[in-house]
Amino acid sequence: MFNQLGVIGCGLMGGSFALALKRAGLVKRVVGYSKSPSTTERAKRLGVIDIAAESALLAVSGSDIVLISVPVAASEATFRAIRHLVEPGVLFMDVGSTKRDVVEAARRTLRERVSSFVPAHPIAGKEVSGVEHSDATLYAGRQVILTPLPQTDAAMVQKASDVWSALGAQVLRMSPDNHDAAFAAVSHLPHLLAYAYFNAIHGQPAGADFLSLAGPGFRDFTRIAASDPSIWRDILLANREEVLKQASRFRHTLEALEHAMKLGNGDALEELIRNASQARSHWQMNTRKPASGR
Ligand code: NAP
Repeated sequence: MFNQLGVIGCGLMGGSFALALKRAGLVKRVVGYSKSPSTTERAKRLGVIDIAAESALLAVSGSDIVLISVPVAASEATFRAIRHLVEPGVLFMDVGSTKRDVVEAARRTLRERVSSFVPAHPIAGKEVSGVEHSDATLYAGRQVILTPLPQTDAAMVQKASDVWSALGAQVLRMSPDNHDAAFAAVSHLPHLLAYAYFNAIHGQPAGADFLSLAGPGFRDFTRIAASDPSIWRDILLANREEVLKQASRFRHTLEALEHAMKLGNGDALEELIRNASQARSHWQMNTRKPASGR
C-alpha cells in the first residue's frame, strides 16, 4: 500500500494507472501534474487525481510512488525537473513506448539517482488520448515490459513488478535495445503504415467516395491511424533507426507481392499470401482479456 502516487502527465496512461491503483486499494491519495493547468484540473474534476500540483516537483514531493506518463520527448525535461527529489525508497517509473531514449535520458539527468527509476512500457492503450479516456481496467490482462538498467535497485524492480502484477498485468523484463527492436516491428511500423495508407487513400481525388464505401476490414486495418499525432511523432523519431529497418524489410516483402502481380504469376502470389495467412492464423495475441489497445 502506497501513501501517495505522483502522476506527471495526467493523460490516458497516467490517469488509467491512477484509477487502477485506487481501484485496487493500493494508494491513499493521488497528486497529479500536467503541462496545461486545465488538464490537471480536469483530472481532478473527473476524480482521477485528488490533488492538483503546480509543478512536476510538487507532484513528486511526499510521494512514495511516481509515474511519469508524458510523451517520450518530454522525458528528459521531466527527469531534470524532478531529479532533486529522486530518492532511494521512492519508486519512479515511466510508461513510454520507446525505451532506449528514455533510459539514456534518465542516465544523463538522474546520474547516481537513476537506481530508483524502473523504465516500463505497458502493452496497453487506445487510439484516443486524454484523461477523459482513463480506464481503471486498462492494464488488466496486459503485458508490461520492464527494462531496468544495470544500476537499477533490484528492490525497486521487484516493487515495480509487484505493482503491475497487482493491477492484473503480466510482467516481462527485456533490455531497452531488444524492446525497441521488437516494438519497431510490432507496434511502430504498423502505425507508420496506417498513417501512410490512410493519407494515400484520403489524399486522392476520389478518396472521400472510396472511404464512404469502406467496410469492417478497412476499419480494423486503419484503427490505429487515429492515434495521437504528437505522441506518435515522438515515438517514430525516438526509435527511427529500428523503425526504418523494419520499413525497409516491409518494402521488400511488398515489392515481392507486386512483382508476382506484375508478372501475372498466380502461383508465386498465392505462395506469398499463403505464408502470411498460415502464420497469421497460428498467431495469438498474448493477453488474458479481449483486445482493445495496441
Ligand atoms: P496523453 O493522453 O496525451 O497524455 C499525455 C499527458 O502528458 C497529457 O496530460 C499532457 O498534458 C502531459 N504532458 C505533455 N508534456 C508534458 C510535460 N512536459 N510535463 C508534464 N506533462 C506533460 O498520452 P498517453 O497516451 O497517456 O501517452 C503517455 C505516454 O504513454 C507516452 O510516452 C506514450 O508513448 C506512452 N504509451 C501510450 C500508449 C497509448 O496507447 N496511448 C500505450 C503505451 C505507452 P497536457 O494535456 O497539458 O498537454
